[in-house]
Amino acid sequence: MAIRFDGRVAIVTGAGNGLGRAHALGLASRGAKVVVNDFGGARDGSGGSLSPAETVVEEIRKAGGTAMADGADVSNFEQVTAMVERATREWGSVDLLCANAGILRDKSFAKMEIADWAKVLDVHLTGTFYCCKAVWAGMRERNYGRIVLTTSSSGLFGNFGQGNYGAAKAGMVGLMNVLAEEGRKNNIKVNTISPTAATRMTEELLPPQALQLMRPEAITPAVEFLLSEDAPTRTIMGAGAGSFAVIKVLETEGI
Ligand code: ADP
Repeated sequence: MAIRFDGRVAIVTGAGNGLGRAHALGLASRGAKVVVNDFGGARDGSGGSLSPAETVVEEIRKAGGTAMADGADVSNFEQVTAMVERATREWGSVDLLCANAGILRDKSFAKMEIADWAKVLDVHLTGTFYCCKAVWAGMRERNYGRIVLTTSSSGLFGNFGQGNYGAAKAGMVGLMNVLAEEGRKNNIKVNTISPTAATRMTEELLPPQALQLMRPEAITPAVEFLLSEDAPTRTIMGAGAGSFAVIKVLETEGI
């Protein structure tokens, strides 16, 4: 049976672009009310005044869905709490969380500044902790919660120049393992997804032919499964044909 989220309220962070945007659109099309979070301002050169989050909300509304934009910076606990309170006030609960906001500050370890380390840890790891913390009490109270954390193969296997990002992503897996266990008795399921998709984060790193095969929408069904009624818990799921695509392109180009 097709997955539905009617009556459920979701927060998707970093949903102004890329993966988060695709997940927000997908969840809304399946009946969820979606808080589209992104702290980014109006797109450069777009000529419009809408922020990326507001643009995605417009897209959802045009398709008949329900959504609100929120500009909270996930690395600011007060803003994250205010976002969760607002959603709960307007729509009664927050049932689903997709923690997806992210940035990159890639540098070789020799060149990495303290600020590069701190910023990436702040957004990915501490920001994820803040988002989970802010929804946790409500989920426990209502005996229902589904949380997906966007992680990365970089956190499991490492990527050149991503000591900060890889450490943050590995930390998110560590947090997931504990939340999954502590959430069990309250029907809160917590998982990570390690996607390979073409987004602003990857477009600088990969050849164009690989990117064409790696659309963010390809990852959304896996996220929907992990947020569904029948979700497993404590899994580290990989998703996307990306790695295969990249290897193929690199082979073809003889790199
Ligand atoms: P990906 O889709 O691969 O996760 P993107 O760069 O396309 O990568 O999307 C990440 C999104 O996360 C961006 O839209 C960015 O504005 C957002 N983001 C980054 N940092 C924060 C933050 N501190 N709070 C909220 N959103 C953030």
